[in-house]
Amino acid sequence: MVSIVVREPGALEVRSANIPAPKADEVVVKVRRAGICGSDVHILHGSNPFAVYPRVIGHELAGEVFSLGAGATGIKPGDRVVVDPVLCCGYCYPCRIGRSNVCANLQVMGVHRDGGFRDYVAVPASAIIGVPADMPFSLAALAEPFSIAANVLSRTGCGHDDTVLIYGAGTVGVTALQVAKLHGARCIVADIDETRLERAKTFGADAVVDSRRRSVSESVKGETDGLGPTVVIDGAGIPALLNEACRVASPAGRIGLLGFSPAPSTLSQQDVVSKELTIVGSRLNRRLIPQVVTWLAEGRLKPESMITQVFAAADAQQAFELIEKEPHRTLKVQLDFS
Ligand code: MN
Repeated sequence: MVSIVVREPGALEVRSANIPAPKADEVVVKVRRAGICGSDVHILHGSNPFAVYPRVIGHELAGEVFSLGAGATGIKPGDRVVVDPVLCCGYCYPCRIGRSNVCANLQVMGVHRDGGFRDYVAVPASAIIGVPADMPFSLAALAEPFSIAANVLSRTGCGHDDTVLIYGAGTVGVTALQVAKLHGARCIVADIDETRLERAKTFGADAVVDSRRRSVSESVKGETDGLGPTVVIDGAGIPALLNEACRVASPAGRIGLLGFSPAPSTLSQQDVVSKELTIVGSRLNRRLIPQVVTWLAEGRLKPESMITQVFAAADAQQAFELIEKEPHRTLKVQLDFS
């Protein structure tokens, strides 16, 4: 039994762990596959403002039910499941209006409380989502990262009439691309890396912009009969992009932000008001994992080619080193706990 712990910023440890006993309202999951997220890397570097140390990291989990508390019903040992890492109180204002992902008492697994990079993890029964028995754990572990894309596009709205400009062809950009395509939108992806742009094409991008060579605003100004993209997603998390996003967006356009930089962004009030732009933040996911599981089960996403490497859990150190040293080679790196 192993558990991947960040003891303090910079110190990743593989520790041995016991099998927890479930409390009444809990389920113990035997983790089989877990994805490494950019946020896990941030916690390792000490650059996540919410993390408390030492911390068992990991929030992209798929596995099977191992044991259940007396109050956990509707599932049985052996069922394949994924875990929604976003735990909320249920009674604060955001929870009451259905915005549980910005709960005033938010607890994210692997951030505010211990996560799932371990062989066995006890989680509230309410965080368990069943997946089809024939869905590979590798694909099921992608439900959480796709839920981030589903969330931002549910915040902006996205449909057949939309042209979506996505900044960044990393994991967030590529998942946003796939979910936007699923909604029938035309998609343009901008990035500074040619290899990543080529990859974006394989995931369905209708056009790509190498933003080192061409101006993004010039490249997209002909979209939507010369009005510009109707939805802009900042999947790169760069504060300076907000200004450009407001400039290039169509009247009545919507801009979705996912970055967590504390640096201020400048924007033109005139752009926002004259075009009546909607700027929305998107954090984690608002109970969207069941929807993503349905999309995965129906074959409406391209998850297999997202997984670029798989490491044994005990080799987590090497997995993190690869992500840091060769980011162009990695899209989603997973840890195998089986
Ligand atoms: Mn994630």
